[in-house]
Amino acid sequence: MFHKILIANRGEIACRVAATAKRMGVRTVAVYSDADAQAAHVQACDEAVHIGGAAVADSYLQWQRILDAAVKTGAQAVHPGYGFLSENADFANACARAGLVFIGPGVAAIQAMGLKAASKQLMAKAGVPLVPGYHEADQSPALLASEARRIGFPVLIKASAGGGGKGMRIVQQAADFDEALASCQREAKNSFGDDAVLIEKYVQRPRHIEIQVFGDTHGNVIHLHERDCSVQRRHQKVLEESPAPGLTHEMRERMGAAAVAAAKAVNYVGAGTVEFIVEQTDRGMDFFFMEMNTRLQVEHPVTEAVTGLDLVEWQLRIASGEPLPLTQAQVTVKGHAMEARICAETPDNDFLPAIGQLRVLQTPTASRFAVSGVRWDSGVRQGDSISPYYDSMIAKLIVHADTREQALARLDLALAQLHIVGVQNNVAFIRRVIRTDSFAQAQLDTALIEREKALLFHQQTVAPPQSIAAVVAAFLRSEQHHSEDWVDPWSHRQSWLMQGRSVRSFHFEIHGETHTAALTSLVRGGMRLQIDGHEAAFSWRDAAGQLQVTWGDQSLRCHVYQDAVDWHVFTDTGEASLRLSDPLAYVKQDAAVGGNLAAPMPGKLLSFAVKTGDKVVAGQALAVMEAMKMEHTVAAPGNGTVAELLYAPGDQVAEGAPLLRLTVD
Ligand code: ADP
Ligand code: ADP
Ligand code: MG
Repeated sequence: MFHKILIANRGEIACRVAATAKRMGVRTVAVYSDADAQAAHVQACDEAVHIGGAAVADSYLQWQRILDAAVKTGAQAVHPGYGFLSENADFANACARAGLVFIGPGVAAIQAMGLKAASKQLMAKAGVPLVPGYHEADQSPALLASEARRIGFPVLIKASAGGGGKGMRIVQQAADFDEALASCQREAKNSFGDDAVLIEKYVQRPRHIEIQVFGDTHGNVIHLHERDCSVQRRHQKVLEESPAPGLTHEMRERMGAAAVAAAKAVNYVGAGTVEFIVEQTDRGMDFFFMEMNTRLQVEHPVTEAVTGLDLVEWQLRIASGEPLPLTQAQVTVKGHAMEARICAETPDNDFLPAIGQLRVLQTPTASRFAVSGVRWDSGVRQGDSISPYYDSMIAKLIVHADTREQALARLDLALAQLHIVGVQNNVAFIRRVIRTDSFAQAQLDTALIEREKALLFHQQTVAPPQSIAAVVAAFLRSEQHHSEDWVDPWSHRQSWLMQGRSVRSFHFEIHGETHTAALTSLVRGGMRLQIDGHEAAFSWRDAAGQLQVTWGDQSLRCHVYQDAVDWHVFTDTGEASLRLSDPLAYVKQDAAVGGNLAAPMPGKLLSFAVKTGDKVVAGQALAVMEAMKMEHTVAAPGNGTVAELLYAPGDQVAEGAPLLRLTVD
């Protein structure tokens, strides 16, 4: 076994690899960018080497610096994690030349599977079933269009070098093909430096089922069964589970055998995943090879949960030359596991990634009501920031139980115990997803979120009166705790004495609507609370760290956190955010907005769809930005004329910076 390895990654996966290495007595070296000097992964490792600026191109993709760091610190091997350099054959090659073991497959296997088109040609030869499509080298637009017609619409155009859900376009009809092709090629060129595409039949309501495989340097290949990753948004996974519900024994065996055949066809060594797309027809299910990811997968913990194995330990053992620890027959699956990807994003705003500081990060494993079978894999701590430079994934929450139903209940409880304040996130959204009938009944397919959208978006899980009563209670509690030199942050202006009673009124902004609460302290003691003009019995008490709040005939237990003017209420059923507003401040702010179009987040300006002097209508696309691995279109808020473009394509733009000026009609 190695005595020291370098982890060429950051965030949760670097922490996760470091944990296994520590358990095995292997020393670890972290690498970090300017933005990550204080990051959790740096602390998780025994040593750390600074490798450059915050942008990934200046640090985590600077493979010469990473190799130098490995050599300098005496590491014997490099674990690439996922993303970054994990599927970069040049890097794997350079490791070998520098006398380092790359913890992953051989260079030839990475190359063979690196391009979706080439890997499909190879799989066809190995007898692995493929989605009907075009995977050849000739990229002339006319040929691609005629191939799309031959395959039959709808088709999917994919960047051959693509990954992470990027570089894909669904085309419903021939008339839309040319435009979709151009936009796919542009994204492919920008993101992967290669604009080659392939075309596939677009499978309707497919399931995504993948098989975890492992090979060793002695020619053995086995699989560790499947994961269902069908619940996706933007072609990116949100929830994963193992085993895949409803899969027959026969189908499971066939998929496992096909995955092993795929891995053997490229002499695969180490951990890999063979992804299949599963078509559900009247006859049953058909599965087709989609791609092979030649690395450890984000969702590997669900496989670890059901097999009881440590996949990183297997990676280290195999990379150091040991044979596979188990035979196929010795790998057994026990119970059911689920993983939820906790991301910094705004589900109600088309999943736009979010940034900010994690003012509160209360995790379910740290909860006093923590249940067993819950795992929290994260690379951030309370107080850390989610920056625009890296992936928007905050953490992964993994649960394991005897049955799917129990795993689901456990996940719901763990999500209820997960409190994040300061960064917009998908926790409440995921709770709604797992509570849909589709998910509960395991009717899984990639369209689940779209199908259930009426229940998933723009929902208030805690009604305004309850959340307002909770915040008022939390305020009163904090007032008690600060009895001496406590200065009321809720502006004295708004309190006055009325017939000998103290009345304070508060204005809250919830989902853009203003609500008013009036709190009256009675002379004889006690409180009266009026919310939006309605009065009801109000009382509260501290209950084991939670607040027990009663307003009218409703009683709820909750946690309330304050973050400047924002208040966050977490209950068993969901969460609510309230902004304490000073109505005057809002008027001023609105007046200042004017006709500027601001970048929704820090990122790169890709292109303008308009030029100075153009007349535009409300909703018309004006500019395309790229940030956190996604493209975002900035649209006109109203009809008007473009007065000035303030940046050039390729420029880095700060959050909130106006991109252009519009004279609104
Ligand atoms: P999985 O491992 O489940 O297949 P994804 O396919 O969503 O997960 O992506 C795996 C990882 O690859 C991501 O978490 C990210 O770190 C990395 N990745 C995704 N897209 C890109 C990209 N455009 N450029 C670089 N790395 C990416
Ligand atoms: P990536 O490298 O970005 O992970 P994949 O080829 O693995 O790209 O596809 C990502 C997702 O896109 C799949 O999980 C699936 O939801 C969807 N998808 C891919 N191919 C098809 C297809 N032919 N028909 C329908 N959906 C597809
Ligand atoms: Mg994939």
